[in-house]
Amino acid sequence: MKVSKKRAAALLAAVCLAGMLSACGGQAEEPSSRQIFAMDTAMALTVYGTESSAAVQAAEEELMRLEALLSRTSEDSPVTALNRAGGRQTVVGEELTALLDAAGTYSRKTGGAFDPTIAPVVLAWGFTTGHNRVPAPEEVASLLETVGMEHVHLDGGTAWMDPETQVDLGGIGKGYASDRMAEIFRRYEIPRATAALGGNVLAWGTRPDGTPWRVGVQDPRSPEDSSALACLLHLEDAFAVTSGGYQRHFESEGQSYHHIIDPATGYPAQSGLTSVTVVADCRRDDAAGLPGNGTMCDALSTALFVMGEEKALDFWRTGGLEMELVLVTEDGRVVVTKGLAERFEEIEESGYRYEIVS
Ligand code: ADP
Ligand code: MG
Repeated sequence: MKVSKKRAAALLAAVCLAGMLSACGGQAEEPSSRQIFAMDTAMALTVYGTESSAAVQAAEEELMRLEALLSRTSEDSPVTALNRAGGRQTVVGEELTALLDAAGTYSRKTGGAFDPTIAPVVLAWGFTTGHNRVPAPEEVASLLETVGMEHVHLDGGTAWMDPETQVDLGGIGKGYASDRMAEIFRRYEIPRATAALGGNVLAWGTRPDGTPWRVGVQDPRSPEDSSALACLLHLEDAFAVTSGGYQRHFESEGQSYHHIIDPATGYPAQSGLTSVTVVADCRRDDAAGLPGNGTMCDALSTALFVMGEEKALDFWRTGGLEMELVLVTEDGRVVVTKGLAERFEEIEESGYRYEIVS
């Protein structure tokens, strides 16, 4: 399928209008919508069904609760308490230990490409504080000694870490939040909804006309222009989570540095990819015993961005996890795994070359 740039913009506008039009047509199915700023991210919820207002309210409260739980910068979050404990065993609660445990599992599965203990390195680059700087190589090397999930220990709602180790759940938090959104939609028996938590999208059910939701994959070359897309995905009951170096970065002496750090080097990952989108089912839970597929997609989108095209595709083929990928490469290709072949649309004149891989 191909769609022109203009048509892509019109289609996206049509997504926004769909609710209004059906309301005008007399078959009122008006959604409840809300914009929320939480977890340092602009979020948008659109929820249909008789319980839509109650569900939106519950969703907003849940996002605020998660922000307080997972924040690395707020004074009184359990994550902050753990980071400041200086090695002491700290009560952080069952929910946080379950998430840290899942983070550890994805860290192992990805050979350490995803690693929440990268926190001190992220801090040194200033991505936590906004005071960006390029740390000296010796500083990076000494901080890397504190990195690795083997420095984190969990036991029944408590956690303790080696004194210098710190955790940052920024690479997984919004994915976990999207799992919680799915749980709320299930609880309120919501027939259809979308939740866009920055680059973490939940497409619940279908559009009111029964066709899949249209989810745009942002063109990493034009991050400021939200109508510039690398491709469009047609999704029903799915999470689609994108990680890209374009989302947060700074310039120093003519060099650009972004916020996804390769734990093997301590430097922003330079893998030849400009973004990775991971798509998985939001109703079935393949991540047995783990928080959910939203969390999985978020951890893996960060990890596969670090790994690069070849390793990411190997991981997709052999990792044993049910998911599909869209990789956007620095050299102008959009690489789509075959499970998405019938569910994606090329953007004409985008300048990208499209490849389907199996
Ligand atoms: P975003 O938060 O923009 O949606 P990601 O999910 O890719 O993007 O997460 C990036 C964030 O995760 C960084 O801002 C940082 O806090 C943290 N992080 C950076 N590199 C890694 C890594 N290799 N593994 C785990 N977390 C990381
Ligand atoms: Mg992530």
